Amino acid sequence: MKFILASTNEHKAEEFNELFDKEIVEVVAATDKFDVEENGKTFAENALIKAKAYYDKYKVPVMSDDSGLCVKAMPNDLGIYTARFGGPGLSAKERAELLVEKMKDVVREDRGAYFVCVLCFYLNPDEIFFFEGRVDGHIGHEYKGEFGFGYDPVFHPDGEHEHSTLAMVPEWKSLNSHRSVACRLAQKFFHERVCQS
Ligand code: IMP
Repeated sequence: MKFILASTNEHKAEEFNELFDKEIVEVVAATDKFDVEENGKTFAENALIKAKAYYDKYKVPVMSDDSGLCVKAMPNDLGIYTARFGGPGLSAKERAELLVEKMKDVVREDRGAYFVCVLCFYLNPDEIFFFEGRVDGHIGHEYKGEFGFGYDPVFHPDGEHEHSTLAMVPEWKSLNSHRSVACRLAQKFFHERVCQS
């Protein structure tokens, strides 16, 4: 199935297409940009707001995403506000460094965090499907690693790579990230739906 991505960011569309099997799910970046106020209280609400806005405009199936970083020690500062953490005008690196600085006195057991990604597939007003992926870990004490983006250089995933940041393990990230988990769930769902029809 082909979906319009509720974003004009072609890089994002490309990234999603690398995670999906094109035979099952394909996304195309929207051509006209229009601002949608993301005033939901959850990732799912924001994903739905974006998907519905694009569906109402184009009247074709739409996929939207919303993602962010949730940090146990700072429950109200990031989450759905992750992109705005620290205020306007900061670079991604400055935001990640600010997070480390604000958490400098937080002990290891309270440094837990997770990335979450919610995908919303808005086929029509009666068929709206959500998929969520998550990767658990903790916030480190320094900015490390050259791959990835955003908060990857300060996030240590649980498990075999807990001493590395996500920005140091790009192959692991591409298989296990919150986005990749959500895409796999969506792909399985649409594959089964096609098989059953
Ligand atoms: P968006 O939903 O793609 O706009 O992302 C919201 C915020 O979460 C942005 O500040 C991103 O930097 C951050 N974010 C989302 N996914 C990732 C990731 O995989 N790595 C690092 N930061 C991420």
